[in-house]
Amino acid sequence: MATLPTSEDELIARFGPHPMYEPAGGFARRPAAERLVKTHCCFCGVQCGIQLKVADGHVIGFEPWEEFPVNRGKLCSKGVARYLQNDHPDRLLHPLRRTESGFRRASWDEALGLVVERIRSIQQRHGRDAFAVLGGASLTNEKAYLLGKLARIALRTANIDYNGRLCMVSAAAANKMAFGVDRAANPWSDIPLAKCVMLVGTNVGECFPILTDYVWRARDTGAKVVVVDPRLTPIARTADLFLPVKPGRDSALFAGILADLVRRGAIDREFIHAHTVGFEAVREAVAKYTPLHTEALTGVPAASIVRAAELWAEAPTSMLLHARGLEHHTKGVENVLSTINLVLATGRIGKPGCGYGTITGQGNGQGGREHGQRCNQLPGGRDIENPAHRAEVARFWGVTETELPRAGLSAVEIFDAIERGEIKGLLSLSINPMVSLPDAAKTRRALERLEFFGAIDFFLSETARHADVVLAGSLQEEDEGTITTGEGRVVRLRRSVEPPGDARVDWRILVELAARLGFADKFRYTCAEDLFRELCAASSGGPIDYGGMSYEKIEKNLGVFWPCPKPEHPGTPRLFEGGRFAHADGRARFHVVDYRPPAEDVDRDYPLFLTTGRVVSQYLSGNQTRRIGPLLDQAPEPYVEIHPQLAEALGIAAGQMVRLATRRGELRLPALLTRAIRPDTVFVPYHWAGRLSVNRITHRALDPISKIPEFKVCAVRVEAS
Ligand code: SF4
Repeated sequence: MATLPTSEDELIARFGPHPMYEPAGGFARRPAAERLVKTHCCFCGVQCGIQLKVADGHVIGFEPWEEFPVNRGKLCSKGVARYLQNDHPDRLLHPLRRTESGFRRASWDEALGLVVERIRSIQQRHGRDAFAVLGGASLTNEKAYLLGKLARIALRTANIDYNGRLCMVSAAAANKMAFGVDRAANPWSDIPLAKCVMLVGTNVGECFPILTDYVWRARDTGAKVVVVDPRLTPIARTADLFLPVKPGRDSALFAGILADLVRRGAIDREFIHAHTVGFEAVREAVAKYTPLHTEALTGVPAASIVRAAELWAEAPTSMLLHARGLEHHTKGVENVLSTINLVLATGRIGKPGCGYGTITGQGNGQGGREHGQRCNQLPGGRDIENPAHRAEVARFWGVTETELPRAGLSAVEIFDAIERGEIKGLLSLSINPMVSLPDAAKTRRALERLEFFGAIDFFLSETARHADVVLAGSLQEEDEGTITTGEGRVVRLRRSVEPPGDARVDWRILVELAARLGFADKFRYTCAEDLFRELCAASSGGPIDYGGMSYEKIEKNLGVFWPCPKPEHPGTPRLFEGGRFAHADGRARFHVVDYRPPAEDVDRDYPLFLTTGRVVSQYLSGNQTRRIGPLLDQAPEPYVEIHPQLAEALGIAAGQMVRLATRRGELRLPALLTRAIRPDTVFVPYHWAGRLSVNRITHRALDPISKIPEFKVCAVRVEAS
């Protein structure tokens, strides 16, 4: 998979010096490598092990880290290029302050003083909740914990949320509802043990390339691979069965598959009886989803629906994995629950090669949602509205329970409240909503309404450009910490280099803000490990228990899976063994899911589905990967995928510019004609900003439970331009 250069010499030999990725000072002046630092790739939730090559205070290359068990030295195209971000000329080197004529350099004292003064001023005039905080889902666990504590203790605002709200929260909510706890049930090493692997709305080959190897290892030992997606993604091309579901119809499809399993008697009555609650209601609810009825709803041929049920039923072991294609919907939680119903009804969980999981795309998609930077959550995965949980955390932080804010607004709702004038101030940490939120014009209007906006970031993202103060923070390789990968394994990040210039490590910026707000006594940390110790202690006894972890233990074991409640506990790679779930009665819950259409379905004026997603060479909003020359060269601009039949009907030729119009606005992109997409659907990748941003035209409707926006389906009109 490593198609990109692995050293600067090779980079120059193949590409020549390039202003986009030539480090400051030029390649020629670089000394030989002084040391290798074992750490992790920052560009997805797999967190592959990598050794960064460091010389003279710069990351200059990498070596494989073959002992790390998840990737055994392998890396995808993003992984082999990740070292190039460290010395980029766009790196923020000092704080910036907005003036009439643009940004000017500011001292840390001035910048931090201004942030604190504006927080106080806005909260005094408009109330504590008028100042909001937003964090990223690539932050270390330490930073996620600290940001939540800063918001609740030093700002005492209810309105803190995070970028995972745009990503995995539907799975998180469904996991808690069904299993009582939110984590992938199995380690990735269970995938090759499965005899049927069902991949739902997950473009594994491009979004989590290293996991493709796990699926192929399963296939090599006889597993059947079933892929559900509106697009024939790279993994779908090698599948045994491909179910090209119409966007927004997943829950109907899974009701249809489950109904067929019930009809053929291929459910595990013993498991259902001993370990679950609610199956009979689900059985009755799915009965109407005959193959023909399901075909009519989903566009998937009835024979394929029956074949999917057959393949699942025939296999002695099976894994079901999904990602944003299932979750980015106004019924994202229902979609996920419909897949969990299938897993539970067949008893395929809690055993080797049997299980279920969501694949996290963001660097710390799992850990970022565990430690209290969500609007409804306290550390240790505790529920902010649960009186017992509130009391535990209040006691731990040394405040009264009434001093802890209640549940606040989610990320999209925070922007809506800003636009309405209810929230006046915002502090953000490594989040780029100008690119990542749907309906970007609304996001821009909201940012322009803010009285004050302070952004902590390492590059001047499209969002940070709207800030009054930008605090130069840290890249992953400039700090210590931990990340919890998509399989629930807590891994160690090691500092490779110091932040350049006058930039600072993020958590030190947050600690300084807390001190200036008068809370130095509650934020006494001298290193990231202090933060981790406190995080672990705070989680102890909670639903997400890190109580027995330490940096030393994580390093020694190449990662520790939670729950790990005591120092002598080895961690828990596979959850729910023996059919014991995390609800108080130990039983998993079935949930009745009846299909309902997306918030904006196709009609006469907007007759096609628009769906969005990723490409292999870009990461999230592109704030990092669009700055890495070889990655940008692979995917310099977005395009719209159109089926040749549709293109012919619309008079569109390959490469021609087309106009995409939704009720939010318009976008012009070149046409990429491909048979890998349904003829009633067009696809646009989302990593670009401004006039190239597909999120200018996506829909802001939210799932009522998870509050995730419906990125994966809206109605669009497509015309030659
Ligand atoms: Fe990095 Fe993910 Fe690729 Fe691994 S699979 S190298 S973590 S982007």
